[in-house]
Amino acid sequence: MTETAEQHSFKAQPDAGGHFGPYGGSFVPEILSHPLHELEAAYTEAKQDPEFQAQLDGLLQEFVGRPTPLYFARRMTEALGGAKVYLKREDLCHTGAHKINNSLGQVLLARRMGKTRIIAETGAGQHGVATATVSAMFGLDCVVYMGEVDMERQALNVYRMRRLGAKVVGVTSGQRTLKDAISEAMRDWVSNIQDTHYIIGSALGAHPYPMMVRDFQSVIGREARWQILEREGRMPDHLVACVGGGSNAIGLFYPFLDDPEVKMTGVEAGGLGSGLGEHAARFNGGSLGILQGTKTYVLQDAEGQISLTHSVSAGLDYAAVGPEHAWLKDLGRVAYTQVGDQEAVDALGKLSKWEGILPALETAHGVAYAIRLAAEMDPDQLIIINCSGRGDKDVQELAAWEQRQQEAGGK
Ligand SMILES: *Cc1c(COP(=O)(O)O)cnc(C)c1O
Repeated sequence: MTETAEQHSFKAQPDAGGHFGPYGGSFVPEILSHPLHELEAAYTEAKQDPEFQAQLDGLLQEFVGRPTPLYFARRMTEALGGAKVYLKREDLCHTGAHKINNSLGQVLLARRMGKTRIIAETGAGQHGVATATVSAMFGLDCVVYMGEVDMERQALNVYRMRRLGAKVVGVTSGQRTLKDAISEAMRDWVSNIQDTHYIIGSALGAHPYPMMVRDFQSVIGREARWQILEREGRMPDHLVACVGGGSNAIGLFYPFLDDPEVKMTGVEAGGLGSGLGEHAARFNGGSLGILQGTKTYVLQDAEGQISLTHSVSAGLDYAAVGPEHAWLKDLGRVAYTQVGDQEAVDALGKLSKWEGILPALETAHGVAYAIRLAAEMDPDQLIIINCSGRGDKDVQELAAWEQRQQEAGGK
């Protein structure tokens, strides 16, 4: 690409400092600057090393199960009477979600850097399970920080991680959820820099994490691109993905960013309502701020105190969004919208019955928006939904939701 073409490419970011326009960057204590530079250098080198890529590709195929199918949702399409709907089946990845694409890439990088110890933090437990899994595969020590409240809500995933040989450390500070677990993981990293790599699970954090996580997840969009071309002989009209930190969404979107005919929508968690604390829609109530090393849209009060968030899906329940999404929103390249708890739960039920696919509650937010969208589009148009994960982990939460509804209805 020529230099001018590159400047006009939506793929040209971040700059050398990790900025996506005014967002991103690296806001960390002095002691972390050096390790982050080291990580960036190692990543840049690995990215250009055919041996690293070959090893990653081989394991994505044999261990993760890639390429994941692009599945035509026939009954869903017929029921909606609009655009043809395809699902990119990340729920079929080993461990049940897209998270392992990134954990695997980062664990290979950690080994290349000579690190013998892996740490991570997790909210719902999906990233913790993916990281415990790849650590076990390479025989590396793994410590996962998790808020005590989340440990209770996600007992099954705690058990899975421990079975895989990881040490799960309960975090008792603050709200005892994801944000507190991240702070604790940071503290660990600062004191064990020498032998430890910190695997961040979404397109968040200080540079180079948002770029690196995006690159590792972009395998989703690269596959979807050749799969839809093979299947339909043309580009899709609309891509839809749920947005927590934004890794599954940017993974699908990124390879299509310079195809102007492809529209894209990211779906945030609308939770229970529009009041601060009732949702996790950073683009609808958030403002510019810095959280966990990066500048982006953050849900905070007038004093800059990070606000509480809520979503029925733990994986979307976070106060900040990945900086590249903030930039793509400003540019108008990607549209962002929101779907509330009830609509997501309903969409989960619909997809399960239409297609025999029980999606994760996070994924169901994207499905819900696609249900609205498909009905308004023409039968010769194409939608791809990123089916980011499977819903087995959510059945307990769903049962509790139904029970609450019955109780409310009975009164
Ligand atoms: C973690 C998770 C998400 C949200 O994270 P992103 O980084 O926004 O992709 C979405 N879906 C599933 C199934 C998850 O496990």
